[in-house]
Amino acid sequence: GLAVSLRDVTKVYDNGVAALGPLDLDVRTGEFVSLLGPSGCGKSTALRLIAGLNAPTSGTVRVSHRAGRARAGQTIGFVFQEPTLMPWANVSENVRLPLKLAHVPVAEANARIGEALAQVGLAEFAGAYPRELSGGMKMRVSLARALVTDPDILLMDEPFAALDEITRFRLNNDLLSLWRNLRKTVVFVTHSVFESVYLSQRVIVMSSRPGRISAEFRIDAPEPRG
Ligand code: ADP
Ligand code: ADP
Repeated sequence: GLAVSLRDVTKVYDNGVAALGPLDLDVRTGEFVSLLGPSGCGKSTALRLIAGLNAPTSGTVRVSHRAGRARAGQTIGFVFQEPTLMPWANVSENVRLPLKLAHVPVAEANARIGEALAQVGLAEFAGAYPRELSGGMKMRVSLARALVTDPDILLMDEPFAALDEITRFRLNNDLLSLWRNLRKTVVFVTHSVFESVYLSQRVIVMSSRPGRISAEFRIDAPEPRG
């Protein structure tokens, strides 16, 4: 089925900037899709519309919900370019935040936090504080925080853009392994051609003023990569 479906979607910001559309976009459940394009072409806008953080000016945005998960917070995990961690809280407490907001009981929350930290390779850093962590590790915490509610859809907005190339490549590989294991739907925003082709099953190329899809291609991967 479809995890995400955008139909005739446009976004004009309050300042009059026509940022997007009209745009049609379908993402299948379990698919890893990249939105590739230059700065300002509307990639983040598209992601925020899918996340429900912004409303479209016109058109429809549909996100499918697993049974019993009516709230968007349980369906979608969002990873921003800036890790936006709370500096006064340790890794474990940072990852706990969405569970607190969802009123998940403490024992269950602790188990889920342990699992999410293991998934991103940070099991041993639960008690560390953000200032003690490298950029790559902070991004891993951010990813754990997005995964801890077990969302169906992971939205990632240029998550690795600020990292050095080696750390970035390592995170690319770890994200691929995660995706193969968890089979979540991923929409990954990037302006890196390499990253889009390496990671995703389908690359959607966008152009500016206002943001539209200008090309789209599928990556065939008969052999598992990575
Ligand atoms: P991208 O993620 O591809 O860099 P964005 O979606 O951030 O593109 O931006 C698309 C266009 O919308 C740009 O011209 C940007 O300046 C404008 N824009 C983005 N967010 C806002 C906002 N909150 N208010 C007004 N204009 C915005
Ligand atoms: P990442 O794997 O997140 O890309 P880095 O390349 O920044 O990590 O760091 C390489 C390795 O060094 C990490 O996997 C981690 O084991 C270790 N490391 C980095 N920062 C710290 C730290 N503050 N305390 C302990 N070990 C660290």
